[in-house]
Order: sequence, then structure tokens, then C-alpha cells
Amino acid sequence: MYAIRVNKNTTNQVQFKAHPACSDSDLIGFFIGTIMEKICLYCGKIFGQKPKVRPQIYCRPACRSLAWKKRNKLQNNAHNAVYKARKKGKLCDKMFCEICGKAKPEHRHHEDYKKPLKLIWVCTKCHDSLKRK
Ligand SMILES: [Zn+2]
Ligand SMILES: [Zn+2]
Repeated sequence: MYAIRVNKNTTNQVQFKAHPACSDSDLIGFFIGTIMEKICLYCGKIFGQKPKVRPQIYCRPACRSLAWKKRNKLQNNAHNAVYKARKKGKLCDKMFCEICGKAKPEHRHHEDYKKPLKLIWVCTKCHDSLKRK
């Protein structure tokens, strides 16, 4: 686990590696008394966060929802591509779960939404275990 701290004057990024045994709350404790400076994962803006509050990765709620939309757009595109490919007969439904072999798998699992047609057919049980990974 890393916490990124940015020095505004030098814009040097300093990464603090937390002790593997430290939880998030230990890490926040490390920053008590200072404002933790972070880079927004969506727009790249530097923002300050007071310690003790729940760690944020976006500078404002708008960035969070835009990032969410971007992720979901990929997901939607992937599902559309699969739908079209199935309609054209380019993609066949599998009759058995590709992990445990159970008949009639209920889920199609994408490993990467950027590769919409790279997917595996899995049963509910295997799908759950994939999500947990
Ligand atoms: Zn932002
Ligand atoms: Zn299965």
C-alpha cells in the first residue's frame, strides 16, 4: 500500500510505503497534524485532504462520478459488442461453466472490458469467486 504525497513547490512525488502490517487507519495516523496532498485520479489536480477523514482518490465528487461513468462506458461498450457478436453468430453461448464444468452457466465474465469479446462463461458460484479475486 502506498500513499502519495506531493510537494507543491517541487511537484516531486514522494511515495511512502506503509508497513505491510499497517492498516489504512495506521497510515492516516501517520499524517495527523498535516494536510495530506494527493493527486486526483481523474483530472490530476492536486488536492489536500485532512487526515482522519475517509481517504479520497478524487478531488471532488464530479471527478468521482466522471470516473465512474468512464468505467461504466467501457462496461456498456463491452456488453453491446457481445450482444452484436452473438446476434451475428460470431460468438456462441457455451453450454458449460468454463471453470467447473457445470451445465448452463448463468454469467459471462469479462476479464478486461477493453477486450469486449474476450470473455468466459461461468456459473454463479465460479463468478462469485472470480469477483472476490
Ligand atoms: Zn479531479
Ligand atoms: Zn462453475
